[in-house]
Amino acid sequence: MPESCLFCRIVQGEIPAAIVLETDHCVAFRDIDPKAPTHVLVIPRAHVPSLEDARDPALLGELLATAADVARQEGLVERGYRTVINTGAHAGQTVFHIHAHVLGGRPLGWPPG
Ligand code: 5GP
Ligand code: ZN
Repeated sequence: MPESCLFCRIVQGEIPAAIVLETDHCVAFRDIDPKAPTHVLVIPRAHVPSLEDARDPALLGELLATAADVARQEGLVERGYRTVINTGAHAGQTVFHIHAHVLGGRPLGWPPG
């Protein structure tokens, strides 16, 4: 685990986060700067920098399945929600530990800016 990685430190409990769901392989917590009424980040416990580095179908499957579980738990299923994985500079990725954003609670608009 890279000691400098913010999300690894959240997994380790070294930095506090509002955790909403934990599984054997993933942790979900509220985004510190929410872009929608509900904004949760789902991350693998393992340090994988981005989708470009994610070569494990089981890890990716669990990441998305956990995102769906979060959406259900947060009551987003009836009205819908968005799941986003930003990769690299043009997408605006700022934390290089892969994460799926789960956004909902208002109409989100499309396409993104
Ligand atoms: P990215 O832009 O890399 O796709 O998303 C990174 C997200 O992490 C941003 O939405 C940002 O608000 C969130 N974030 C950054 N630092 C922290 C933190 O210390 N705690 C939490 N809970 N979220 C953070
Ligand atoms: Zn990490």
